Amino acid sequence: MSDVRSAIVIGGGLVGCASAYYLCREGWKVTLLERQRVGSGASHGNCGYVCPSHAMPLSGPGVVAHTLPSLFKRDAPLSIPARFDPGLWKWLLQFAQQCSSDRMIVAATGRNALLTSSMSLYREIVREESIDCEWSDQGLLLVYKSGKAFERYVETAELLKREFEIDAVAYPGEAVKELEPALKSGMAGGWHFPADAHVRPDKLLAGFKRVIEKRGGEIREGAEVLALRREGNLVAAVETSRGSLAADLIVLATGAEAPKFSRVIGCRLPIQPGKGYSLTMQRLENQPRIPMIFEEHHVAVTPMELGFRVGSTMEFTGYDRSINPKRVALLRKSAAEHLEDPLPVTVDEEWAGWRPMSVDGLPCIGRAPAARNLIVAAGNGMIGLATAPATGKLVAEIASEHTPHIDATPYSLSRFV
Ligand SMILES: Cc1cc2nc3c(=O)[nH]c(=O)nc-3n(C[C@H](O)[C@H](O)[C@H](O)COP(=O)(O)OP(=O)(O)OC[C@H]3O[C@@H](n4cnc5c(N)ncnc54)[C@H](O)[C@@H]3O)c2cc1C
Repeated sequence: MSDVRSAIVIGGGLVGCASAYYLCREGWKVTLLERQRVGSGASHGNCGYVCPSHAMPLSGPGVVAHTLPSLFKRDAPLSIPARFDPGLWKWLLQFAQQCSSDRMIVAATGRNALLTSSMSLYREIVREESIDCEWSDQGLLLVYKSGKAFERYVETAELLKREFEIDAVAYPGEAVKELEPALKSGMAGGWHFPADAHVRPDKLLAGFKRVIEKRGGEIREGAEVLALRREGNLVAAVETSRGSLAADLIVLATGAEAPKFSRVIGCRLPIQPGKGYSLTMQRLENQPRIPMIFEEHHVAVTPMELGFRVGSTMEFTGYDRSINPKRVALLRKSAAEHLEDPLPVTVDEEWAGWRPMSVDGLPCIGRAPAARNLIVAAGNGMIGLATAPATGKLVAEIASEHTPHIDATPYSLSRFV
């Protein structure tokens, strides 16, 4: 009898791919099931930031009071349409309960561990596996139009330095244009995080796909998981659109859609889809060099070899993939207000994806309370690309019962039982 253990990974986003990759490295026989194609979800069109600078969660003291009035503005980056959705309202209530200094630091500490580990794991994987994903070490630049907001950011910069040794350099006034000449003149300033990096997400996914197969993993695209059949405290079968399968281990990495399996998991996963958009366009003559976030609008720009991407907005509209032209127009408006060159009229790709937003800003990584052989890896929110390698490595370590390379407790599902 073979002693090779088998694993089924459900979901071909970056979290599923990284989990499959590290399981292959640990000697598991891996089958990855993806409903459509690898990279059909949030992992395809995101902004590609590998960003330890993003240790702070969305929730923090004063966030609710600050955000509520902006919800009524038509051009607010965050949109929560008034509709009957008890799951969403419960999530918002739980989110509001997270908005204290203590909880913010707990979440930031867990996020920082995943972000820091992932940064070094990415460097290792990209080098060892020769993955061409346009890796670039230009850092990340936060750009401000308002002098007050630029100056206020010093508090966050000092907090990041004190708690996590993260460096940010201030570029006041025209110094920010000297750093990034693609910007218009007249910005109030910018904060640059020199240790951040960025990639082209679709190329990263293609690289993962290649190395999973090279290491003996099988990828089945067009295989939707319809149900997980539990017997006692084990998942006995994975029912798919292409038949029934079984394995020693099941990894659920279906991003924003993970809560659909809550009954089998044994607890309600407080994850909501936070829809965001991106536009990918051809190179500008005055092409951005450094990834940037236009802080007043929360709009992000990512330079790419063949062009650039503008991405943002957070819509809580449930599992709705439609593209709202008004939200897309906000991306163009913000980019036009900050970049010196006019934007190209034509867009290579207009895209929307669901960020898997967990209520406390931390992903859910760990064994399911009701099924011993089921590991959940979902809820990586706005930093799923930047935290995928450490998430995948933790999955493989938990599965193989090895000591985890970082403390796995903050991500455990037991916090929701
Ligand atoms: C506009 C935007 C910009 C972003 N920018 C960044 C960034 O710069 N840096 C960063 O770190 N993060 C960023 N993010 C967040 C990041 O994209 C996500 O956190 C990350 O992609 C989540 O990965 P995932 O693998 O968990 O989910 P997904 O990529 O959504 O993958 C889940 C996969 O599971 C599949 N699936 C679902 N249900 C089933 C089923 N029943 N059977 C089989 N397959 C199934 C789906 O088809 C999908 O392919 C951004 C997100 C958005 C929307």
